[in-house]
Amino acid sequence: MAKIQQNIWFIFYVFALFFLILFATLSYINWKTIYKDYVITQENKVRLIADSTRSLFKTQETILNIVGAHVLEDNNHQTNPDAIMTLNTTLLDNPSIDAIALVKTDGTMTSVSGGYDVTKFPNLLEQESSRDSFLATLKSHKMVFGRTYYFKPIEQWIVPIRKAIRDKNGRIVTIITAALRVKDSFGSFGMNADQSHRHSISIVRDEDFYFQYLSDDEIDNTLAYSTPIKPNEREAIQEAITLTHHITMDEFREHEYLISFINTDLKGKRYLTSLTYDKTYKLWISVRIPLNIVLQDFLQKFAIYFAIFVFINAIFFLLFKTIAKADAKRNADLIFQATHDQLTNLFNRSYLQKNISDWLFEGAPPFSILYIDLDHFKNINDNFGHQYGDYLLVELAKRIKAVTPKNATILRHGGDEFAIVTNITKDETLLALAHTLIDTISKPYHFHQLTLIVGASIGISKFPDHGNSLDILLRAADIAMYESKKIQNHAQIFQDSLQDEYLKHVKIEHELRKAIEHHELFVVYQPQIDHTGSIHGVEALARWKSATLGIVPPDQFIPVAEASGQMVKIGYFILSRTLQEIQEIQTTLGITFQTSINISVRQFMEEDFLEQFLNAIHDIGMNKDLITIEITENLFIEDVDYILPLLHNIQQCGIQISMDDFGTGYSSLNMLRKLPIDELKIDKSFIDTIVEDKTAQKMVQNIIAIGKNFNMSVLAEGVETNEQIALLTSFGCDRFQGYYFAKPLPKDDLITFFQKR
Ligand code: C2E
Ligand code: CA
Ligand code: CA
Repeated sequence: MAKIQQNIWFIFYVFALFFLILFATLSYINWKTIYKDYVITQENKVRLIADSTRSLFKTQETILNIVGAHVLEDNNHQTNPDAIMTLNTTLLDNPSIDAIALVKTDGTMTSVSGGYDVTKFPNLLEQESSRDSFLATLKSHKMVFGRTYYFKPIEQWIVPIRKAIRDKNGRIVTIITAALRVKDSFGSFGMNADQSHRHSISIVRDEDFYFQYLSDDEIDNTLAYSTPIKPNEREAIQEAITLTHHITMDEFREHEYLISFINTDLKGKRYLTSLTYDKTYKLWISVRIPLNIVLQDFLQKFAIYFAIFVFINAIFFLLFKTIAKADAKRNADLIFQATHDQLTNLFNRSYLQKNISDWLFEGAPPFSILYIDLDHFKNINDNFGHQYGDYLLVELAKRIKAVTPKNATILRHGGDEFAIVTNITKDETLLALAHTLIDTISKPYHFHQLTLIVGASIGISKFPDHGNSLDILLRAADIAMYESKKIQNHAQIFQDSLQDEYLKHVKIEHELRKAIEHHELFVVYQPQIDHTGSIHGVEALARWKSATLGIVPPDQFIPVAEASGQMVKIGYFILSRTLQEIQEIQTTLGITFQTSINISVRQFMEEDFLEQFLNAIHDIGMNKDLITIEITENLFIEDVDYILPLLHNIQQCGIQISMDDFGTGYSSLNMLRKLPIDELKIDKSFIDTIVEDKTAQKMVQNIIAIGKNFNMSVLAEGVETNEQIALLTSFGCDRFQGYYFAKPLPKDDLITFFQKR
């Protein structure tokens, strides 16, 4: 059971692990996808900004070239108002240019667009922020742009672009300088590239590492544009690049790579940065985003995955828990089924076998087994059907439960056998319990307007007194039970002396099975004489001469035959043998006499008893009036409602009925009145003591009086002396049977006996 449970949970853990791996993989893929998306977006932004920057500068250079061409055409451009006009027109077409001016090689401005007062403009050589780039312009044939700075006269952050205009000889005629508004040039395409404002865009000059443009809104422009990027910050970025992309900065510049990487700034904040280099204008263009924004984005999706993961796991957990629970229940049911009797729900035999080790071990506390066997239960099944038998067993189990101590274990050990294991060991207490059980079991059962009655015989064995294994203890209880059965509705505690008797019983039972086939059974006849001295009849008595056991008396083998279910067969054999021999005798002698045949309880209760009995008589062709059946008072423990009509039936057929062993058992006068009895046989035990015992005399007188009263003949059996006969005759006894006249005789001896008389 535990194994299946373990397996189920193992499967669950495998599922859970599978989902965990799936979840981890999905999360990883998701992270990668999000990261890649960010990289792609950022790199697109970088590309866009790089392209825009390039085209911006290219356009501006073209404009400067056009303006330059105008200026060259006009020799007096320094003072000519037309030059101003040209500059103003240029300005109109270029929203990003705030001002455009002509400058002399010494750095002084000669004319300026947009109506500014040129005298208020600084000398570009004297101004720190423009000096380097102005000098570079003088040396260069291309457009040169300077550092971004705040140009006070026009109150703007600008990027200055300049070009030296030379004549045919290469002499510088003038220098055109224009102020590009950072806000309207880089700012506007930066804005286009990142409307989300989550990325920060920067353009850095390679020659001095000043920011050309920085998109951060919160940044202090003065600070940002007036100092170059610190060397250690640059190194950190370089390190991140070489680490992730394995390229040197020179290679980077040469190939104008566009790459992305994660880097940490001086404050320890991490960024996803995308970077490229523009060889033409020597600019580093980068877009970066704080890594935690990327992470947040990921976590938002991750949370959904996580919720799904937890949900699926929870569902699976519940599912498996349900399966495990159902499985546990099924197992419990199976165990219950295996260890319980389905009809009564009591424990069964295999439960006892499995759990006996709990009771049986060295030094275990003593306990007792009460072995209960129902008397005549089979009749109920046979006569009324199994439905009635089952009902009775269920009801009976309830009754046993009700009177058994709570800590005792009750089992249905077999068909009509029950066992109780209890820690009671005192003989009196055990017997008291046994009798309570017998009383409650033998109370009538009412079912479908029928009243059923069973009896119970109980055998008791004790641990450790009677054995130390289950088999031995059960056998001891069984032996004691067998002893009880003889008396019926009785309880008996095992004694060693019972053991021998039991073994004998087993032996008899075994040998008896072969007795008929081996012709070991025969019948003897004991004459019955009436008070006039004439022959009344004979009683047929069974004899068994066993090859192995020798002569076994009938009061030993008849009960065994009864208990082992052989009585019907043996009874039928005795009947036919008797009828056959009596017929022979009567024919031989030419006389008729009465023949008494003993009928055991089992035989009598057999369903087709009368039918078989009549058939046998018919087959022989004997007169039914010459047959007497002997029954005992034991019969009336059985169902009287069944017996009474049957007895009347028998009598109606002409067969006489004799009540054997009368006076030993229990028969109320009331009942006797109702019974169709022809003859009372006074038990031998009374005759034995009749001469000296006054009580026995009184008893015999009473029996005879009852007999007379109910119109029955009275026969005294076991008559051995003359005195007995005299006394019995004086009491009015009708018939005698005993050694005084004859012992039971074989057929031939009986013929001789009859011939002599
Ligand atoms: P029972 O029916 O009471 O039979 C009388 C028994 O008393 C017989 O014993 C008989 O031999 C014995 N007996 C008769 N007169 C005297 C006497 O003067 N002195 C002494 N000491 N004994 C006397 P048996 O034949 O051993 O039978 C014993 C019992 O076995 C019978 O008691 C009867 O209950 C049973 N039995 C015998 N044959 C049959 C049979 O064919 N069918 C059935 N069902 N039971 C039988
Ligand atoms: Ca008899
Ligand atoms: Ca008798």
